[in-house]
Amino acid sequence: MSLQALDLHIHLAGAGGPGPRRDEKAASDEPPAEASVLSKPSQAQAAQADVQEAAAGCWFHPRRLRAPGFRVMLWSLGISRREARTRLGAALRARLVQALEGAPSLSAGVVLALDWARDEAGEPRPDLTDFYVPNDYVLALAGAHEKVRAGVSVHPLRADAAEELHRCARAGAVLVKWLPTAQNFAPDDPRAAPFLAELARLGMPLLCHTGSEGATRNLNKAWNDPRRLRAALDAGVTVIAAHAGMRSFFHEPDHMDAWVGLCADYPHLYGDTASLFGLRARHLIRALDRPYVVDRLVHGSDWPVPASPWWFLGRVPVRRIRALARVESPLERDLRTKRALGLPEAVFTRGHALLYSAQRPSRASS
Ligand SMILES: [Zn+2]
Repeated sequence: MSLQALDLHIHLAGAGGPGPRRDEKAASDEPPAEASVLSKPSQAQAAQADVQEAAAGCWFHPRRLRAPGFRVMLWSLGISRREARTRLGAALRARLVQALEGAPSLSAGVVLALDWARDEAGEPRPDLTDFYVPNDYVLALAGAHEKVRAGVSVHPLRADAAEELHRCARAGAVLVKWLPTAQNFAPDDPRAAPFLAELARLGMPLLCHTGSEGATRNLNKAWNDPRRLRAALDAGVTVIAAHAGMRSFFHEPDHMDAWVGLCADYPHLYGDTASLFGLRARHLIRALDRPYVVDRLVHGSDWPVPASPWWFLGRVPVRRIRALARVESPLERDLRTKRALGLPEAVFTRGHALLYSAQRPSRASS
């Protein structure tokens, strides 16, 4: 199988109110957002029905609609606040499908679920959760669209964690996503050990957030430190540190050097290039000067976080930036901007290699 460019860090969300709200119902009179050339014709109708049903399980805390960062994101996507309030899930999904269709450089994108913030007993805490994206939603999307792969999310402290992991693996999930500071657990909590052992056994990579987090509340910023991933790495799990420990804002600690240090110890540790926003965009330039680090980078956009080539003024010629800014698909624009920065092609194809076992690097022996 030839290696193809893959974006392994894409988010979706669906609306929710004070009590899970079914924003898909409000949108059901309209043509399905995902009726597109990406659909597999033979199963299209059943697959679209599955997507609609699974999307109805999403939850979105109304407080996020008021957050400045979220408003910027809506503006960049051309989604009005009214549309966000009434049909956020369908609107975001339509933009995503459009962005994937308009990205000829990408073979596929991994769309990420997000499990609930949970309490010590592993029970959901909607009051602590900013957004919840069910695994069944991304699995249904992957069944409906040629260019979508499912990245599922399983909180390691839930009672059925191993069972859910195996269910998702059987359904075709390609990786597990954690966002510990939003999901209320330490990545190195000893109680997560059985789950990590199962992940290692399945050979399924873990994409775990590191560095500053701005899209959700931080329940504990200490959990954004990549050194917390030693537990997963020691268990033999292939780990992709989302954002490679980079920060977005000056007042946040920068964990990139910690991630670089870990790379020396663990050959099965990677970091993704998400996202080209704020300081993080400039930090990516730092990585380019270290070939050893570039060998561990994996392409990810963090869509729908807005990506702009203008962050690289002074590094990329203005004429080229202008041309990049005109690329309509934000996913294609993000990828081409990173190519313009000089990231080697291996960064874009490495995700494909990690997710498909024949290409998967051997685990470090402990
Ligand atoms: Zn992200």
